[in-house]
Amino acid sequence: MRRPLVAGNWKMHGTRASVAELIEGLRHQVLPGDVDVAVFPTCLHVGQVVAGLEGGVIAVGAQNCAVESMPGALTGEVAASQLLDAGCSLVLVGHSERRLLLGDSDEVVVRKFAAAQACGLLPVLCLGETLAQREAGQTLEVVARQLSGVLEELGVGAFANAVIAYEPVWAIGTGLTASAQQAQEVHAAIRGQLAAENAEIAGGVRILYGGSVKAVNAVELFGMPDIDGGLIGGASLNADEFGAICRAAGN
Ligand code: PEP
Repeated sequence: MRRPLVAGNWKMHGTRASVAELIEGLRHQVLPGDVDVAVFPTCLHVGQVVAGLEGGVIAVGAQNCAVESMPGALTGEVAASQLLDAGCSLVLVGHSERRLLLGDSDEVVVRKFAAAQACGLLPVLCLGETLAQREAGQTLEVVARQLSGVLEELGVGAFANAVIAYEPVWAIGTGLTASAQQAQEVHAAIRGQLAAENAEIAGGVRILYGGSVKAVNAVELFGMPDIDGGLIGGASLNADEFGAICRAAGN
């Protein structure tokens, strides 16, 4: 039985004041005991969020890490080991905004994934097709190729300690959500690709759905057999809405 995970990606949002408010709101949420919850603030706010959520059940992650796991001469980057030291336990890799706007290639994504794992951080590998790719009927092929990048380089064993997030690019921040059936089809294909290598690892890996998830559509999405929670962008900036999404993932 996979334990659901609901993760909030705060993207490039927040000031010290608004982050303090969000922390306060999160501390007041009644969260289900059978769901893991994590938030991903900007690097700048990681320390504040770690301190503000101390003693609670919400884990803190980072939105990106360097391709090198250890500190060094890489101006502007943050090493996975530094994120761990700052109190992070997870890190997003391969978010579509980084792939499409910031040039993270499949090869870079593999290196970041490996750097995260080398330090004991849980990588959350984001995969997803663009609208043009979906309309061209290439969804499963695109997602399989993105997954293969990591699978071929690091082996299926890498997924014993990782999370996957399927996030169709056309659903991110657009208000358009994949239907529960559309999402389930891709999640099942991802799990199937892993199962071809190792059924036990495939059965244990959590595959989150992301793309305009809100409390109103969360229950149906999270009810699908291969959807193990969500990666939440916009809606995670509202503590009450995020709390409701977390509750939707509970039993
Ligand atoms: C995201 O950025 O990972 C995301 C899913 O965003 P949103 O929920 O706003 O679509």
